[in-house]
Amino acid sequence: MKDIFCRIIDGEIPCTKVYEDDDVLAFLDISQTTKGHTLVIPKKHYENFLATPAETMEKVMKVAQRIGQAEVSVLGAKGVNILTNVGECAGQTVMHFHVHVIPRYVGGEGGFQITMQGQDTSTMDLPRLAMDIGKAIK
Ligand code: 5GP
Repeated sequence: MKDIFCRIIDGEIPCTKVYEDDDVLAFLDISQTTKGHTLVIPKKHYENFLATPAETMEKVMKVAQRIGQAEVSVLGAKGVNILTNVGECAGQTVMHFHVHVIPRYVGGEGGFQITMQGQDTSTMDLPRLAMDIGKAIK
């Protein structure tokens, strides 16, 4: 079964379009975390960030950057969150690669918070951890 973003691309479900070219579509998130919260997606289906080829990634991220710049210049955002979730355990609910571009305003509109709480690293072998990841990079 087609995911909801493939259905948007195919025109079966409406969206509020922000930008479109041959490879990339950007539209307002139905749930506006802050005013202007935009999703940027490749038109070709890839399940998530990790499954997306570099060439497509470049196109999507370039559009995400331009949208972030526009949110600052036109909407008056003072900052922007660029984020993508991979997998259900990381909060991904639509299994079609997408980048959230979320403008941030002074005053803190929007309840979404990214929390990154540091763990106790005293029992971790950090050099070994870095080596294991580094060696596995393709
Ligand atoms: P995720 O949780 O997978 O990172 O983000 C999926 C996003 O897609 C959510 O922020 C959700 O609000 C948005 N979304 C889900 N269904 C629709 C839809 O039909 N239209 C639009 N515009 N956004 C959607």
